[in-house]
Amino acid sequence: MNITDLARRLRVPAEELRSKLPELGFDIGQKALKVPDRDVGRIMGAWREYKKRQYLQKKAMEQRARAERKQAVLSGEAEAIALPPVMTVRDFSEKLNMPIAKVMQELMRAGILASLNENIDFDTAAIIAEDLGYIAKQETETSIANEDEATDRLEKSLALRDKSMVSRPPVVVIMGHVDHGKTLLLDTIRNSNVVSGESGGITQHIGAYQVTRKDQKITFIDTPGHEAFTVMRSRGAKVADIAILVIAADDGIKPQTREAIDIIKASGMPFIVAINKIDKETANVERIKGELTEFGMVAEDYGGNTICVPVSAKANTNIDQLLDTILLVNEVEAENIVANPDGRAIGTIIESHIDKGQGPVATVLVQNGTLNNGDVLGVRGVNFGRVRAMHTWDGKTVPHAGPAMPVRILGLKAVPSVGDVLEVPEHPKALEKMKSQPNSRSGGASEITIATTKKINTGDDDDQEQVSLNVIIKSDVLGSLEAIIGMIEKIDNPYVRVKIVKKGLGNVTDAEILQAEATSAYIAAFNVKPTRTASQLARDKDVEIGEYTVIYKLFEDIVEKLKILIPAEKIYTDLGSLEVLATFNKLEKGMVVGGRVNKGVAQLGATARIVRDDQVIGEGLVKGLQSGKADVKEVQQGAECGIEFLGKTKIEVGDTIEMYKEEEKVRELNIHSANR
Ligand code: GDP
Repeated sequence: MNITDLARRLRVPAEELRSKLPELGFDIGQKALKVPDRDVGRIMGAWREYKKRQYLQKKAMEQRARAERKQAVLSGEAEAIALPPVMTVRDFSEKLNMPIAKVMQELMRAGILASLNENIDFDTAAIIAEDLGYIAKQETETSIANEDEATDRLEKSLALRDKSMVSRPPVVVIMGHVDHGKTLLLDTIRNSNVVSGESGGITQHIGAYQVTRKDQKITFIDTPGHEAFTVMRSRGAKVADIAILVIAADDGIKPQTREAIDIIKASGMPFIVAINKIDKETANVERIKGELTEFGMVAEDYGGNTICVPVSAKANTNIDQLLDTILLVNEVEAENIVANPDGRAIGTIIESHIDKGQGPVATVLVQNGTLNNGDVLGVRGVNFGRVRAMHTWDGKTVPHAGPAMPVRILGLKAVPSVGDVLEVPEHPKALEKMKSQPNSRSGGASEITIATTKKINTGDDDDQEQVSLNVIIKSDVLGSLEAIIGMIEKIDNPYVRVKIVKKGLGNVTDAEILQAEATSAYIAAFNVKPTRTASQLARDKDVEIGEYTVIYKLFEDIVEKLKILIPAEKIYTDLGSLEVLATFNKLEKGMVVGGRVNKGVAQLGATARIVRDDQVIGEGLVKGLQSGKADVKEVQQGAECGIEFLGKTKIEVGDTIEMYKEEEKVRELNIHSANR
């Protein structure tokens, strides 16, 4: 392998690598351009070890500095700083008068992943501020409307039960294991309900759509998988009324099915089980019903009340029956599936991204009130712009969007996060102004992240035998993200694994570059790009970013990276041992000793382990072997010989030299599916 390639893999300038290699025990010469392939794995290992030592040293220094700052805080010498109950990371760093990168790094260290425009609360900020040498005090007055308040308002507005609340279309979410047919089911439902000619047939993926069945509308969240739903739920947003749990009739309950069952149970949502792929010969609907009973879900024909509808998304079998069942559940739940179409709109962001031509766009599911063209958009107490235009999934431009209606909105100044509550404010002037000059390609405001607060794995846990390839995955839409993660999850190898340190939607941001640096992660960007500042930062920090437009290519690259990480198999062979009877002249890098082989053989080129009083005191190499005056390759048990030992240990008479051979064998990477 070229040194430059290896250097790139290790994210180090080639010159630095070349000059460090001798120190790490790989003497390849100052002018060498290549390293032997068989050494690549070992060099990577040695480099990691070296980096780890460096890291530990840096950590120790930082710990000392932090302890000093802490001392200043404790003794009251530190500067006091007033902070509001909630603030964006950007505001926080302004208050501290510190570079954003530094503040983000400190947040990450505390296990908090937040982008520039994400809010952190006072408690979090106070801890970080103290770490940075300030004493935090709470600001007494503030008018900032925060995310929780918005969620509260949304919930309150929906909990109202008076005459103003009228029935609205039910919102349905589809969950289940990867490959069980969620996407195809959503497609089939969508296609079979498009009235031809109605919209010119232009449909676009906006994260949700509506179909009409028996003159009633049903809204489907069109982000297959429960990721979007989980994110929204974790932010306290309640978006769906009914869940459809898709289980492939030829496969049964799998890990993600179980996860979905847990989510459904925890939310208390009514649900329908769609047993899919019944067109397949291997389909076994009864078996699925049997498996469901183990989760306390007993099918109706088994005497329980779990509704199961056998369907085939592919053959379009029983899809109408599934829709009718949704309408039935809707009827039973009628008193809960209501909203007030009058008044200011409030709803949840279910998808968002940056469009090359249109800038930030987001799909909002209006949950209460009606959204109108020209309305001011408030997100997390910040003015995110004004509705310039609204489109439905089937390409129609609409001036209003009422409850349960998903619309894509144009006119945003930045991309809100999935799960954000969007509300038209009562007093638009009370909203905070957007701080940064929004720029769809370079600003931090343009990014969205799925997980706002999450423990970061720094990749230091070495108790695992598996070597990890840390990756950060960013994608344009949740569907792709889920597909990528689904593929990666199938990699099941005893020696290497992929550790996803972060996944999210939107462009690659500065924070992610810093996180990649901290965790030595590879960044895989699918249909998204790094922001301009992130690009620069990545170059500065030697963080590798791969941009992809084909999922399989991304997967292949990850597999290639794993292959390199696979540690070579070490094969030890004990050769024999020698008792040292005499020591002779000292050499520059070792010494010459004489002795008798008391077990096995002494062999030229063997690794020599020096043992004194049953303790290993050093290791080196049998560089020369002499029997009488002649140079030999091997000396048998019982014979005396001279050994030229290469190593630092000072050998003494009476020591034992144990000799062994260590060979390395390259392992193959077999990827086998974990779940099938
Ligand atoms: P998802 O990962 O759950 O979204 O699954 P997909 O919708 O992508 O489907 C995974 C695979 O199963 C695709 O190759 C589909 O064509 C196939 N599939 C989905 N539904 C059916 C079905 O009803 N019958 C058959 N035979 N194949 C299906």
